[in-house]
Amino acid sequence: MNRRDWILIGAILALAAVLAAIFYIPKLFVPEDNPAVVTVTIDTELYGVYALSEDREVDIDTKYGHNHLSIRDGFAQVTEADCPDGLCMHQGRISQNGEMNVCLPHLLIVEVTSGDGNGPDK
Ligand SMILES: [Zn+2]
Repeated sequence: MNRRDWILIGAILALAAVLAAIFYIPKLFVPEDNPAVVTVTIDTELYGVYALSEDREVDIDTKYGHNHLSIRDGFAQVTEADCPDGLCMHQGRISQNGEMNVCLPHLLIVEVTSGDGNGPDK
């Protein structure tokens, strides 16, 4: 082995390290269990995505009407609505991947997903 061989080996090892870093480092920053998110859809259009882990009050005002979404203690719930049936307010709290809260008169769908797009229907 002469000096050139060692430089070549060093270069290959460096390249391997760089490739390994490119492949493995992103996985370190993306946890296996992605945090759950609450996805709000109005008439099939995405209205907003909110982390289920962060307490938050969301007023949803659209041409169809008003709903108030409360995210608290890891649960999402429609707490106010001016829809005629008020059913969305009686659907309770949702927290599990795939659970939904629907307000038909307002074409509103509040859905919990795990955040990685691997929900039961996807
Ligand atoms: Zn409703």
